[in-house]
Amino acid sequence: MSLPKTCHAAVVTAFGEPLEIRELPVVQERDLEPGALLVRVDVASVCGSDVHQWEGITQALVPAELPIVLGHEMMGTVVAFGPGTREDSIGQPLKEGDRILWTHAFCGQCYECRVQHTPTLCRRKRQYMRLNCERFPYLTGGFAQYCYVFPASGRVRIPEGVPDGVASAASCALRTVMHAFDRLGRIEPHQRVVVQGAGPLGLFATSMASYAGVRELIVIGAPERRLALARRWGAQEVVSVEEFATAEQRVARVKELTGGLGGDVIMELSGASYAVAEGLEMLRPGGRYVVVGQLGGPLTPIQAALIVRKQATILGVQSADIGQFWKALNFVQRAGERFDFEAMLTTRYPLGQINEAIQSMRAFREIKPLILPWA
Ligand SMILES: [Zn+2]
Ligand SMILES: [Zn+2]
Repeated sequence: MSLPKTCHAAVVTAFGEPLEIRELPVVQERDLEPGALLVRVDVASVCGSDVHQWEGITQALVPAELPIVLGHEMMGTVVAFGPGTREDSIGQPLKEGDRILWTHAFCGQCYECRVQHTPTLCRRKRQYMRLNCERFPYLTGGFAQYCYVFPASGRVRIPEGVPDGVASAASCALRTVMHAFDRLGRIEPHQRVVVQGAGPLGLFATSMASYAGVRELIVIGAPERRLALARRWGAQEVVSVEEFATAEQRVARVKELTGGLGGDVIMELSGASYAVAEGLEMLRPGGRYVVVGQLGGPLTPIQAALIVRKQATILGVQSADIGQFWKALNFVQRAGERFDFEAMLTTRYPLGQINEAIQSMRAFREIKPLILPWA
């Protein structure tokens, strides 16, 4: 396949400043490293982390070297292979024209990768939207027409029947939620689950908990459009942060809905800095609290004694490995008849309107906007 010499990409040159559409080099087939792939990005989607990365608030956690191509939630079609295997990471054959998802690059040869089996903590990981796009391989972000799949990136074929936009949303939001459920382990049918946040992560978690079947599923968030979707996807109760405006009111409401006990499992998927203090209050003694949404922002006081008093299990979750990508795709394929996942995908923007998409996301006018790099 003949590839263009350059393509369009949305580039952050200064934090908080409008993104620039730049022409970046497209790595040609002969220059692909062994194991690398080049994909045509058909659809990317905007994740809350893109907004945080653009604002610069994730710098303390994971430094990026500007200029970067923004975007890390995307799907694409394989257009070129570097030397080496033509299989995906779970042994399925892979050919040009196949749709795939792919991970950040985890080295597979460090203590975190090999001894702890926590590749997302890999000390030598290379992450999309963190690398200087003026250096090889240039196309290292989702908001571009092509993307370079690193040799060490896991990759998995998208099953038939999964729409591009849903697959894209699975590549960060849902695979991270899948990782959270993996970390939690078994949730029994008699247990009560409370989801903090009604954005894409919260909504995916709602669908998964509902699909698994739990005694009670409560979703906390706003605005009403998101809560309506949460109800449709199986939340028995929703707690609007607009109606229940203070932490005290929200904690009291969750206690009331759970017979005074709190949730056996609380999932923090909102990213609001105040949510963790509340989540600890809402947790039933002996319960598990999985924290996913927190990526930076202000320090937030918590009542640490609650961890002891409740003998709480607190689990942190960051990103995901290829197995969780596969499980995420498998879930949307199987559960697609029960949950209209495309209802989460709000507006479609061409690449040239990336700044409008970011602003709209920031203002909570979107659930998950799509970027169409070829529109
Ligand atoms: Zn590693
Ligand atoms: Zn993300």
